[in-house]
Amino acid sequence: ANFMPRPTRRRVLTVANQKGGVGKTTSTVNLAAGLALHGVKTLVIDLDPQGNASTALDVDHRAGTPSVYEMLIGEVSLVDAAQVSSQSPNLLCVPATIDLAGAEIELVSMASRESRLKEALTSEALNQLGVDYVFIDCPPSLGLLTVNALVAAHEVLIPIQCEYYALEGLGQLLSNIELVQKHLNRGLAVSTILLTMYDGRTKLADQVTQEVRNHFGDVVLKTVIPRSVKVSEAPGYGQTVLAYDPGSRGAMSYLDAARELAERGVDREQR
Ligand code: ADP
Ligand code: MG
Repeated sequence: ANFMPRPTRRRVLTVANQKGGVGKTTSTVNLAAGLALHGVKTLVIDLDPQGNASTALDVDHRAGTPSVYEMLIGEVSLVDAAQVSSQSPNLLCVPATIDLAGAEIELVSMASRESRLKEALTSEALNQLGVDYVFIDCPPSLGLLTVNALVAAHEVLIPIQCEYYALEGLGQLLSNIELVQKHLNRGLAVSTILLTMYDGRTKLADQVTQEVRNHFGDVVLKTVIPRSVKVSEAPGYGQTVLAYDPGSRGAMSYLDAARELAERGVDREQR
């Protein structure tokens, strides 16, 4: 039951939701860790100036470290910016440093400002790193950084918190995605929705879950991530919950979600 299939083709997923605190970063690093710990080589691109994904993956992201910022402005290559996480040799990360904070504004006046990340993620570089999965962790906005992530990806993964107002603002995200599909990246698809921070004691959590499933159908993963203290403690130790407490409910559910995601990445005839 530990089998984690490699995808038929490399998958690049952007983890987006312009609301903060819905579980973008937590889902990015734990899904990536779930795949990596089961032998699927995975790269996380930290595209949030806060650098929370870099922290959770325990990669150097002090000011001056070659990071996604230098990659976007064309000063370093993907291969030079990628670091291996201490948690697994299969888990790579391009960190975000504080330099990224100004990038949203700097990018405005740059040539091909929407596709700079895509241009950095060349297939040569991705082949050289040998990665099967790329996750791009977005900041909580719909600015140019998120647009770069949407242009660079094949798929969007939207984490939705099982809380009040969970669906608020989702329309705006979806219409931005439609704009990108129309003008910049025709192949982009909202492939995955992950329900996060589910609290089984509340009626509300079930209502939100039902509402999201009614609306989005099979795009929603069957696995729901429970609210769990272990999940929130792990980053403080520079770890994913899969490394911090592998037997915990949070770790097991992220592993289940990673497996569901991986199974969807294999063509039917190969299953
Ligand atoms: P985002 O990247 O969307 O801003 P985060 O992934 O950083 O959201 O999560 C926001 C906060 O909620 C963080 O403090 C994180 O540790 C916590 N958190 C995320 N998922 C869970 C969970 N399943 N259980 C408990 N706390 C969680
Ligand atoms: Mg985040």
